[in-house]
Amino acid sequence: MGNMKYDSVIIGAGLSGLASGIRLAQFGKNVLVVEKHNIIGGLNSFYSRFGRKIDVGLHAITNFVKKGIFKSPLSKLLRQLRIPYDLLGLCEQNFSKIILRDKVAKFSNDFLLLESEIARLFPKSIDAFRKLVESIRAFDAYNEDSRQDMSTRTILSSLLQNRELEDMLLLPTLYYGSARENDVTWKQFVILFRSIFLEGFARPFEGIRKILALLVQKFQELGGEKRLRCEVQRIETSNGKVEGVVFSNGEFVKCDSVLSTIGYPETVKLYNREHFKETPKGQLSFCEAIAIFDRQPQDYGWNDTIIFFEKNPQFSYKKSSEEMATSSGVICLPNNFNYDNGQSMKEGFLRVTALANYEKWKNLPATAYQFMKKYCFDSLMEQAVKILGDKYLDFNVWKNNLLDRDFFTPLTIERFTGRVNGAIYGSPEKIYDGVLPIKNLFLCGTDQGFLGIIGSMLSGISIVNRHLLLGK
Ligand SMILES: Cc1cc2nc3c(=O)[nH]c(=O)nc-3n(C[C@H](O)[C@H](O)[C@H](O)COP(=O)(O)OP(=O)(O)OC[C@H]3O[C@@H](n4cnc5c(N)ncnc54)[C@H](O)[C@@H]3O)c2cc1C
Repeated sequence: MGNMKYDSVIIGAGLSGLASGIRLAQFGKNVLVVEKHNIIGGLNSFYSRFGRKIDVGLHAITNFVKKGIFKSPLSKLLRQLRIPYDLLGLCEQNFSKIILRDKVAKFSNDFLLLESEIARLFPKSIDAFRKLVESIRAFDAYNEDSRQDMSTRTILSSLLQNRELEDMLLLPTLYYGSARENDVTWKQFVILFRSIFLEGFARPFEGIRKILALLVQKFQELGGEKRLRCEVQRIETSNGKVEGVVFSNGEFVKCDSVLSTIGYPETVKLYNREHFKETPKGQLSFCEAIAIFDRQPQDYGWNDTIIFFEKNPQFSYKKSSEEMATSSGVICLPNNFNYDNGQSMKEGFLRVTALANYEKWKNLPATAYQFMKKYCFDSLMEQAVKILGDKYLDFNVWKNNLLDRDFFTPLTIERFTGRVNGAIYGSPEKIYDGVLPIKNLFLCGTDQGFLGIIGSMLSGISIVNRHLLLGK
C-alpha cells in the first residue's frame, strides 16, 4: 500500500465524497475515498441503538421531482451517476407547515398549495409573491450572476415589502441550509427555495442507509477503493501543488489530485495552519432531540411531515444565547410520508431540531453536560407537543409512551463530522468554483455552496466534471 499512487484521493465518505468517487471511477480513474470514521455518510449517516437503525441527519430528501421530469437537480444527479430513479425508493411527504406565531401556511410537493396559502394569509402581497417566484424560476443558480452574493433579506424586503411574509419564506430556507445568521445569499436562497417549495420532500422507507448502500455498491463495482478509520492529517504540497496525503498513522499516499469534502476551514487546516486561523468559520449549530414511541403519530392526531416554527413575533435565526433555544425550530415526523404498498414504520419517530450555542455546550463540565442534554430534550419535546397539538395527550402522559430517546448537541456533530464549531452548514464564505490556492486541490460539498443530500452529491459531481475530467 505504501507505494501506491492514486489519480485522486477524496477526503470524506459523506454524500459528496461518495458521489464524486463514483464519477471519477466511471471515467477509469484510480480513486481512493478515505473516511476518518468507521461508518460512511458523514452529516447524513445512521447508527444502531438497541437494535434500531436511527438516521443521524435525515428529515427529508429535498429536490423531489416525479419520475420522468428531466430538467431538475435530482434527474441530473441520477443521469450522471447512472442510477435508475426507482432504486432510490423515494416516497413523498404528506404535507408540511410553516408556523410563524399565529400564522400557519401549509405546503406540499404541489407548489399551488403554498401559493394559495400565501394568497389567503397575505392577499395584498400575492402579486409580489408571484413575481418573486418568477424571478427565482428564471435565476440560473449554476452560473455566475451579479446578484448571487447579495443579501436575500434586502432583495425580499424590497420585492415583498412585508416582513411577515419574508420571515415565513425564510423560516424553512434558512433552517435547511444557511450558514449565516438571519440571512442567506441570494444564490443559496434560490437553490433552497427551489429544492423545498418548487420541488419537494421525499424519503426512502429505509431512510438514508438505502441511498448510502446504493452509492457504496456502485463505487466498489466501478473499482473505487475506500478506507474507513483513516484520517487525513496533512495534505502534502510542493511548489504550491498537491503531492499526496498523510494519514494519522503516518502513512503517506501519493496522488495527482485531492478532493476535499470536509469543509473550507477544515481543509485549509490540513495544508496551512496559519491561514486556517483567518478562514471564516461557521457559528451556527444545532441540537436535535429524537423520540421513539410505541404508537404512530397519527394516533395523536399528528399528520404533518415537517413543521418549521417560530413563536416570537419576528423570525430569528442566530446562534442561541443559551445552550439551546426552544422558541424556534424544526419538527419532523418520518412516519408521515406516503410509503409504497401501504408500508408503515412499526414505531413512531419524532425529531425536533433547534438552534444551539457551541461554546456553551463546550464549557459544561461532564455531569452538567449530561444533565443539560436531558433538560433540553424535555423542553424541546414539550414545545413540539404544544405545536403539534396536545388534544389527545398531555406531555407527561406522552412521556410514558416513549420507547427510547436520543439527543445530540453541537459537540456530537463536531465529534462525528469534524466540522469546526459543529457548524452543519459550514463556513459563511463559500468557494463556488471549488478552487483552493493549492494546485490540484479542490473543495466540494457544503462549503462549495451546495448542500443537503442531493445538493452535496451534485456538488461532488460538478467539481469532478469541471476540474478533474476535462482535458484529461
Ligand atoms: C442534523 C442534520 C439534519 C439534516 N437534515 C437534512 C435533511 O433532512 N435533508 C437534506 O437534504 N440534508 C440534511 N442535512 C444536510 C446534509 O446531511 C449535508 O448537507 C450533507 O450530508 C453534506 O455532505 P458532505 O459530503 O458535503 O459532507 P459531510 O457529510 O460532512 O462529509 C464529510 C466526511 O468527511 C469526514 N472527515 C472529516 N475530516 C476528515 C479527515 N481529516 N480525514 C478523513 N475523513 C474526514 C467526516 O467524518 C465526514 O464523513 C442534515 C444535516 C444534519 C447534521
